[in-house]
Amino acid sequence: MAKLNPIKSYQMWINGKWVAALSGATREITDPGNGDLIARVPEAGPKDVALAIDAARQAFDAGPWRKTSALDRGKYLFKIADAIRREGQFLAELEVRNCGKPLAEAEFDVADAANCFEFYGGLATKIHGETMSVPANSISYVVREPVGVCGQIIPWNYPLMMAAWKLAPALAAGNVCVLKPSELTPITALELARIIETVGLPPGVVNIITGPGAGAGEELASNPKVDKIAFTGGTVTGRKIMVAASSNLKKISLELGGKNPNIVFADADFEAAVDGALFGAFANQGEVCSAGSRLLIEKSIHADFVAALIKKVPRVKLGHGLTPGVKMGALISADHLKKVENYIKIGISEGAKLVCGGRRPMGAEFEKGNFLEPTIFDHVTPQMRVGREEIFGPVLSIIPFESESQAIQIANDTEYGLAAGVWTKNVNRGLRVIHSIRAGITWLNTYHPTFNEMPWGGYKQSGIGRELGLHGIEAYLEIKQVNINLDETPIGWY
Ligand code: NDP
Repeated sequence: MAKLNPIKSYQMWINGKWVAALSGATREITDPGNGDLIARVPEAGPKDVALAIDAARQAFDAGPWRKTSALDRGKYLFKIADAIRREGQFLAELEVRNCGKPLAEAEFDVADAANCFEFYGGLATKIHGETMSVPANSISYVVREPVGVCGQIIPWNYPLMMAAWKLAPALAAGNVCVLKPSELTPITALELARIIETVGLPPGVVNIITGPGAGAGEELASNPKVDKIAFTGGTVTGRKIMVAASSNLKKISLELGGKNPNIVFADADFEAAVDGALFGAFANQGEVCSAGSRLLIEKSIHADFVAALIKKVPRVKLGHGLTPGVKMGALISADHLKKVENYIKIGISEGAKLVCGGRRPMGAEFEKGNFLEPTIFDHVTPQMRVGREEIFGPVLSIIPFESESQAIQIANDTEYGLAAGVWTKNVNRGLRVIHSIRAGITWLNTYHPTFNEMPWGGYKQSGIGRELGLHGIEAYLEIKQVNINLDETPIGWY
């Protein structure tokens, strides 16, 4: 495997310039699949973030972006999409090196990021208002205006795709952005900044800062010059962001965690459901907010279904994401691996039956990476922590059920409400169950496909608001009413 040579030292993108952290501090970025040092990035602190926010504020209040026509804003986004596609292979390989996932999945993410910029490039010209002409002699209309300076904080599981999901709708709507990737996965966001530089966005419109959540992220969430905060990450952090954002009542969008039910009825297409259950649980190493991490199986097929899952698990080939044929890569960090392993200990101590995996794989190729075998717990109960808490790794918890109503009850027995899947050939039942589950993203006879055209987000503690689709751009728009009196006579009230 080719190494990134020499190790690249990045700078941050603030106010149209590449800069180091004021303190000069840097962070080493490593490949979670083999421990290789792959890059150094600036370690921003609150003062760096404040400078980026000032630049964005200036760009919004006095700069040309929001006065740029929607057509031209859209054209910039199309150019970004084209550049991402041109550099697709490079970006996908970099993403693998930085966050561990298999190359085929990174290629999908890069394509999705380009499509997202293209979708919102097209939508920029479709931001319409409303008119009303009641009462007589007046006309009222509604215009949608950009919110202003948007702070955007993204996680480590889909670094480039999440950057696109945040930046594209915000820019299409005429906002300016300060984006903070996870301290673990900043590289593709900085490469995106380079692409943004090449397409010529005015200075300050997009600022990419690299630094830790504690300090840099906190400043972004609390600084009063920021009008809106958009966050994807864990529910615990989401709560902190809400508190910090309350200082100046920022607009807020949160995309948080899930413990999503994937429900298999006895009449489902057996093979398709087995595939869907494995893909739902183990895609992206299970480090997915919408992972189908709770598999609810109807009792009459439970034993056969579990046996079929176990038989197929060896096809989830583990390895470095750039090794051909690999289907599951390394977890993001040694700390996260330990956290997931601790859940495996918890599951065993709670009495769940470990039927598959649960260990680090053996062999020289795995020694320096954060690898864990795909793991399945059977006979999980809804009360167990492995049946309730988001593990965010390749751990599938199987809960048997006896009836449709019990499946719905178990599915809804969670503080989360992000996603759900249902497998049945009875479409009436499938839709009945989907309509009974309190979740924002649902699938019938499939699991995981996402579309830039459709809204993404959760009920309950899985978040606030929606990203993507038409709803996604609304989150970056204010609504103004304008009332015009056509009658020139004074109102004569006094
Ligand atoms: P976090 O929620 O901590 O991180 C997400 C982003 O928020 C990162 O950019 C992080 O920065 C930043 N951040 C962290 N703390 C603060 C803060 N106080 N103020 C502002 N920004 C902050 O996720 P983790 O990476 O630590 O993962 C923890 C758990 O969250 C996972 O195990 C998983 O359960 C869940 N998660 C859910 C995701 C989802 O898509 N819904 C994605 C990722 C995680 P930095 O990385 O630099 O600390």
